[in-house]
Amino acid sequence: MLTIANQKGGVGKTTTAVNIAAALAVQGLSVLVVDLDPQGNASTALGAVHTSGTPSSYELLLGEITAVEAIQRSPKNDRLMCIPATIDLAGAEIELVSMVAREGRLKTALSSAALDDLQIDFVLIDCPPSLGLLTVNAMVAATEVLIPIQCEYYALEGVGQLLRNIELVQAHLNPRLHVSTVILTMYDGRTKLADQVADEVRKHFGDAVLKSVIPRSVKVSEAPGYGMTVLDYDPGSRGAMSYLDAGREMAARSASMNAATEGTA
Ligand code: ADP
Ligand code: MG
Repeated sequence: MLTIANQKGGVGKTTTAVNIAAALAVQGLSVLVVDLDPQGNASTALGAVHTSGTPSSYELLLGEITAVEAIQRSPKNDRLMCIPATIDLAGAEIELVSMVAREGRLKTALSSAALDDLQIDFVLIDCPPSLGLLTVNAMVAATEVLIPIQCEYYALEGVGQLLRNIELVQAHLNPRLHVSTVILTMYDGRTKLADQVADEVRKHFGDAVLKSVIPRSVKVSEAPGYGMTVLDYDPGSRGAMSYLDAGREMAARSASMNAATEGTA
């Protein structure tokens, strides 16, 4: 289970969540995207219904419905699933404050036997651009954090704060949480700056950084307007190919990690 976090808005969290999910599903894996951003952009890109009142991550956090009841399957690929976010989630950040076990509600909701029966290989949680209770719920539910970093000015601004928050969650709420994956997005090969940012990020995060870099591409930004991932919108585009590569890398990493844990078991 991966949380996609970076409290900066517009860095490519949602784009990465839906396109990595689609790339993993294309490889035959079952993937669930949990949309935790009240804007519901991930739900839109996955073609999920998310009008107010639709069973969503909001009711899930309140404990009113089960995860299975909220799941919608992609019209494009049966293995690609989504728990949508509706505008109702906008109030949750405040409503959660007074609730029991407020940080662990998503984790509880996602650890049901009925969900296990669906044999989901990857759960990707798309976070809002803040470090509030919704993001904390995502970090408590997941074991891994995926950080998208934009290859632009001030790319690393705020990453320090994100890492400190991850450490706090590790220390107090979820000791298994770690940054497993960093993905460089909106890379523009014509600029020197993009390479400088990429070098700096690789120095800082080492092997966690995926080799596949996502280029800045109009197709990537157009796709959600059609309720599609870029893999469906323009499968041959550079954006689609790079997300496919990134998905392959992630699947391979996870397979080798599973093999390693089985070997020691
Ligand atoms: P976040 O979820 O972090 O706020 P988004 O994924 O919504 O960020 O991306 C912000 C904007 O940038 C969106 O309009 C999106 O379409 C665009 N975008 C994201 N990735 C790319 C890319 N590789 N090339 C071009 N535009 C992109
Ligand atoms: Mg987003």
